[in-house]
Amino acid sequence: MKNLRQENILFWGVALIGFLLLCLSLLFAGNIERKMREESTDTIMELALKSSLLLSRDLNAKLDRLRLAARFLSLDSHFLAEELGKLRILVGALDTAYVDMRQLMKKNAAVQATQEYVSNLHYGENGVRQIRLQVPVHREGKQVGVLYADYRQDGLYDAYGLTFYGGEGFSFVINDDGQIIFSPVSNRAKRTFVSVLDILRHENASEKVMAFARLLRERKSGIANLDFNGIRQFIAVTPVEGRNWHTIVLIPQEAMHRRSHQIVMRSLTLSGLMAVGVGLFVFYISRIRQRHTRELLEIAWTDKITGGWNSGKFREELKQLLSRKHRPPLGIFKFDVRHFKYVNNAYGYPAGDAVLRHLADVLRKYCGEGGIWCRDGADTFMLAYPCGSEEKAAIRCEALQAEMSNISDIIASCQPLIIFCGIFFLGSKEDIDTGEAVDRAGMALKQAQKSHCYTHEFYSEELYRQLRDEQVIEANMHAALRTGEFIPYLQPQFGVHSQKIMSAEALVRWNSPHQGLIPPGVFIPLFERNGFIPKVDIYIFRQVCALLRKWIDEGRQPIGISVNISRAHLFHDAFPENYMAIKEMYRIPDNLLEIELTESMMFENHVKIQRVLSILRDNGFRCALDDFGAGHSSLNLLKDMPFDTLKIDQIFFGNTLYSKRRETIIRSIIDMADRLSMQTVSEGVETEEQLEFLRSTSCNLLQGYLLARPMSVSDFEQDFLPQPGL
Ligand code: C2E
Ligand code: CA
Ligand code: CA
Repeated sequence: MKNLRQENILFWGVALIGFLLLCLSLLFAGNIERKMREESTDTIMELALKSSLLLSRDLNAKLDRLRLAARFLSLDSHFLAEELGKLRILVGALDTAYVDMRQLMKKNAAVQATQEYVSNLHYGENGVRQIRLQVPVHREGKQVGVLYADYRQDGLYDAYGLTFYGGEGFSFVINDDGQIIFSPVSNRAKRTFVSVLDILRHENASEKVMAFARLLRERKSGIANLDFNGIRQFIAVTPVEGRNWHTIVLIPQEAMHRRSHQIVMRSLTLSGLMAVGVGLFVFYISRIRQRHTRELLEIAWTDKITGGWNSGKFREELKQLLSRKHRPPLGIFKFDVRHFKYVNNAYGYPAGDAVLRHLADVLRKYCGEGGIWCRDGADTFMLAYPCGSEEKAAIRCEALQAEMSNISDIIASCQPLIIFCGIFFLGSKEDIDTGEAVDRAGMALKQAQKSHCYTHEFYSEELYRQLRDEQVIEANMHAALRTGEFIPYLQPQFGVHSQKIMSAEALVRWNSPHQGLIPPGVFIPLFERNGFIPKVDIYIFRQVCALLRKWIDEGRQPIGISVNISRAHLFHDAFPENYMAIKEMYRIPDNLLEIELTESMMFENHVKIQRVLSILRDNGFRCALDDFGAGHSSLNLLKDMPFDTLKIDQIFFGNTLYSKRRETIIRSIIDMADRLSMQTVSEGVETEEQLEFLRSTSCNLLQGYLLARPMSVSDFEQDFLPQPGL
């Protein structure tokens, strides 16, 4: 998601930079265009100057050659026509001729003077537009004739004329009066003999033309902006040295603008194309990256087994859902399958995967439009669904649990699954962090998992406090075991008739340096869930053995002590052997130690329990059935299980409604135990009345607050086990 956003930012960033660059280049192009025009006029001016210079040099060179030829003629009066032909080639002229003075006087109208001169443009005898260069020929101090050479104007123009912009701009050579000396052979040049000044006068304001005429008169270089032939032109003018001629260059303003515009546009198009190319490339790369990122995200966000979202994606989507301004109340559900490991172990992983897919299908079906779900890992699923109230959330949860648990279509022989569910209900106005919302559903699930049936729990503040306390306990339990904070308390058991102490039950206490003495009800259920209890049990058992050893060593008369063990031991095959080894280590005589197993454990695994009981009893342990009456009170059980002691749960005595009927039941239980040669202990005896009743039965021992509460070992020793000789 984040990556996609970054990609978009990159894309729009590139687009913005592109746009700015475009604006900049347009601005820049405007500037360039202006500069180019300035430079173009400078260049034109320069070219006109060069052209003028070349022209004047060439005319001088041509005249020099003619003068040289005139000198030859002055030496030799028999200058032949053939030699004149050679001279024509030498001076590069159209025609050359020698005209003596007589002829000169007579006929040649084209020869207008007897002195050296360069003519204006005119039509020659052959009808060709030409220019004549003429020098006088002297002999013996007297002029005898002239020698002239005619030059085609188009030949001269080819050498000195300038054309620009595909012929749109061109040069003329004019004289001081504006008369054209030579011009390009083009349409416009048809007006060869018309004065440029006349044309300009015709089309422009007189002061502008006068300014231009002044340039000619004063033989200065300059540039003017005038209409010529109906077109606005740049007109550059520069004098030809040594003659009354000027080179003028005419370029239509529009052509020059078009030209610079064209260049700028071409470069703009080129850079535009390049920018587009680069842009397309960046776009392409970013598209590929986007696709790649999307693919990666899809892989990263998809749960392989169910094809749905995984927890990362779920949290991301939940975040969006929670951040919506007007969102409905939400139920955030967390589901867990009880003993899913068993499905995998018993039916194989493919079957396990099929079950997970089934769970996903149910969620997918119920999730509908407004909800989201995911597999949160292993056999845990999450669902966030709009629910109007807690009641509706509970109804939805039950429907889901019912459908999820039914896996008969997948594994026919498997029992329906037990699905736990924790629900966090979030009102539409409540604002909460995603992680916190998910954690709360998780806390509710933990609570639901404490029960062993098919259930759900809602998150509440009370639950939060409880779980927080549990977290503190869990965080400290290992250290507490290491530093000996778990200690046994002893509660004496007295003979019903003698009221003498006969034995004691060891009951664990957590002697916390921060919280004082913590009763087992607070931590034992948690230790049973988190698997820590066997460690505590063994630790207490070791303490009890050490205590008995101490009493024996001190020469006290030891009394039997019973210890409690949790059902978790039954899953450890080495359980009886471990206890035997400890008993052995402390050299505890037989029948001093009694192991208490609860009635509820009996339903786990008959065969196993029977085996455990016989091993323990064979090795000098007594075995007691604890809490009889709290559960199923199966009398049948007593026949099958070889217990030494039956402990009748305090529930029988605790109630003030002490009916005759209950007395009858207790009495018959005690009688039956007696007949089975079992010792009976009545727990939780608190009143004289209860004691009176027990005295009327064959119950052996009693344990209760009436006679003694559980107490520290030192108190117990002091009250009940005086050291011999003290
Ligand atoms: P439990 O084995 O049934 O132990 C008897 C409980 O009843 C003790 O509670 C005892 O203090 C209490 N009790 C005795 N007489 C009376 C009476 O007259 N009135 C009332 N109201 N209560 C009486 P405690 O010590 O809090 O232990 C609670 C439970 O914790 C035990 O029930 C046992 O299930 C478990 N537990 C205690 N120590 C251990 C242990 O070392 N290992 C294991 N696994 N469980 C233990
Ligand atoms: Ca007990
Ligand atoms: Ca008990």
